[in-house]
Amino acid sequence: MRCPLCKGKMVTGKTNLPYELDGEKIIVVRNVPALVCAQCGDAFVEIDVLRKVEKIIDRAGRDGITMGFVEYEKAA
Ligand SMILES: [Zn+2]
Repeated sequence: MRCPLCKGKMVTGKTNLPYELDGEKIIVVRNVPALVCAQCGDAFVEIDVLRKVEKIIDRAGRDGITMGFVEYEKAA
């Protein structure tokens, strides 16, 4: 797979995904498995992984977290 932005090579890696909830909560899911462009650093996350990330964000929102980091590995 090639990077959609710069056509660089995509390699397996990790990325951080920031999410905004209700316009005021910021939760960053860290170390999400992704394909990362070796050239520009743009990350592509697969749909299955994104679904898990959404569940993590859901749970964090219900737990009343308003700002912070969640590790993908631990939460998934
Ligand atoms: Zn790129």
